[in-house]
Amino acid sequence: MQMQTLRPLEMRRVEDKLRVLWSDQTVSECSWADLRKTCRCAVCLEMKTPLHESQNYYARAIRPRDMTTVGNYAVEISWEDGHSSIVAFERLRSAPHENQ
Ligand SMILES: [Zn+2]
Repeated sequence: MQMQTLRPLEMRRVEDKLRVLWSDQTVSECSWADLRKTCRCAVCLEMKTPLHESQNYYARAIRPRDMTTVGNYAVEISWEDGHSSIVAFERLRSAPHENQ
């Protein structure tokens, strides 16, 4: 698989998931909860209590406020609780996907 040539043509919120249409016409879906839970930023990595065990997890933490692409390799997701996560396209691609 050539990750370099793949890019998202469209990113859409579909209920509790992020749906991505890729340049090879495949579609992948990733739940917001999973994306937030696996955030690799310094803050999340050093958190004593994993997010999914903390109280506000099901509230605003997994609700996306905004999405911006970062260069040609990642998307930055801003969450309702003020946090933001940078997710590499490669990780979005590794989610189960289906042909369109
Ligand atoms: Zn984080």
